[in-house]
Amino acid sequence: MNKKDFPIFKNAELVYLDNAATTQKPQIVLDKMNEYYTQYCSNTHRGSHDLGNRATQEYEDSRAAIAKFMKVTTDEIVFTKGTTEAINLLASSYVKNNFDTVILSELEHHSNILPWQLHDLHIEVIPVDKDLNIILSAYEEILQKNPGSFISITHISNAFGIVNPVKKLVEMGHEYNCKILIDGAQALAHVDLDLKDLDVDFYAVSAHKAYGPTGVGALYGKYELLEVMDLYQGGGSMIDDVNFEYSTFLDPPFRFEAGTQPIAEVLGFKEALLYIQKTKGLHAHNASLLDYAKKELLNLEDIILYTQAKNVSGNISFNISGIHHDDIGILLSKQNIMLRTGHHCALPIMKKLGINGTIRLSFAMYNSKEDIDKTIRALNKAVRMLR
Ligand code: PMP
Repeated sequence: MNKKDFPIFKNAELVYLDNAATTQKPQIVLDKMNEYYTQYCSNTHRGSHDLGNRATQEYEDSRAAIAKFMKVTTDEIVFTKGTTEAINLLASSYVKNNFDTVILSELEHHSNILPWQLHDLHIEVIPVDKDLNIILSAYEEILQKNPGSFISITHISNAFGIVNPVKKLVEMGHEYNCKILIDGAQALAHVDLDLKDLDVDFYAVSAHKAYGPTGVGALYGKYELLEVMDLYQGGGSMIDDVNFEYSTFLDPPFRFEAGTQPIAEVLGFKEALLYIQKTKGLHAHNASLLDYAKKELLNLEDIILYTQAKNVSGNISFNISGIHHDDIGILLSKQNIMLRTGHHCALPIMKKLGINGTIRLSFAMYNSKEDIDKTIRALNKAVRMLR
């Protein structure tokens, strides 16, 4: 659906199935960024000239639109470079001074492991079962032994598409007096979010995985938590008053946005989310692609899938017995099919499975069953060449 909205597909041969890494961008997002640069390019939250006022207004409108998309309050959205920066911000401004232990799952992306390690936090890991679902009884045991900890878990696994039971995870975490962050990098384009209903304390996203630009994302935090967090970076436009002896700072979210922000990208982010909202049937479309891909892949000889779980979304990972995933990636690329091979920045779960990577197909609105058919044909050809 909507393929004509994406200029990259002027190359009609291109099959792009690496959407979990980053999605393509629709013209409307590119136009919005161009509008800023060509009509009101100016810095935000400074001075009082007309261009600056327009840029500031557009920037703050974007914050409001992103908050609305997630069903939270505007001043609970902090712009960051992406999910990685959102997690690092939280680690350094909140978790390192208030918690000893961080509870993660075995499915986490490196971006949700390293920030905690860098601050020497003790890490407890919830194991997953043979279908890669979090074992809730093991989670409960960890919570019993570590009440009052910080929890950080992915909403959707970028490596295997597992959709975690986030509502249950949040409820259980709160019963044990924990605070919880959900890494929403893969969920933003694949789930209708209602963060107030979810009652999560923090949520992190990247625009570029949801048809938006690179270089921008957001950290949602309950306002009362943002208020008690330490400062992150110092610089222009996050201050109330500055002296050489002491300074005072703006309220959240502005106190966490030091220096000139990626203004064009923030504007593009809003446009991408509005575009998702306008695209009716998007999640059903992606779900049907995933089902179709799974059915077709199962016809391949020597296919290895890693989960039979039904709660999957956005991507499917597999291997072909006796063939290196990277060889497949290279041969498919030669046939204009861009998919991802490797460990997908999730080495711990790869090690648990005793593999060093997979072949991953990940879907977006512009993909079609035809893309999957082409991929299966190309896979068969590659396998014949490699055997
Ligand atoms: N978490 C997950 C689950 C991801 O898939 C990714 C990106 N692959 C990240 C975190 C990091 O996102 P970014 O690189 O946009 O900061």
